[in-house]
Amino acid sequence: MNQEVQEPTFQPPIPSSNDQSPELSSQQEEKLFLTFVADRDVPCPRCGHNLRAATQMKCMECGDDLRLAVAGATIVLRAFLCVIAPGFFAGILAIILTFIIVAQPGAPWEAYGYLAMGYGSGVISIVICGLRKRFLCLPLENQFGWAALNWLIHIALFYFTVWINF
Ligand SMILES: [Zn+2]
Repeated sequence: MNQEVQEPTFQPPIPSSNDQSPELSSQQEEKLFLTFVADRDVPCPRCGHNLRAATQMKCMECGDDLRLAVAGATIVLRAFLCVIAPGFFAGILAIILTFIIVAQPGAPWEAYGYLAMGYGSGVISIVICGLRKRFLCLPLENQFGWAALNWLIHIALFYFTVWINF
């Protein structure tokens, strides 16, 4: 977005002649990294924290280990998508159930309970979307832990619903 403002000024060190090795030592890599972030705004790939003037190859905000690489500007979203998926699925089911209830007046009271659960779950997923930056700052294991817990709750509620009705 600020490509005009942030013209790359980084000059990589010129390799010595006949240097065929593409591998960098960890000290060389750290030096390149610290030089790269010394005078430019670079967001942490996980939490977006500005890494300008970082003194180590680690995000000061989320603690993620960092390395210098050529890569697309993507964030690890798998756990985030896992954590919001069941709520959106439940919300969509609730919308469908609403149409069924409207089409057939006199639905049992339990149907309204399922509607409330579905819409509640959908709303929670929307709230999590709003808090996604904080969620993405969590260690990846914790992110997948929350996703697993959310799936367990939804599967348990689904089986409970089937069990009391059939
Ligand atoms: Zn970070």
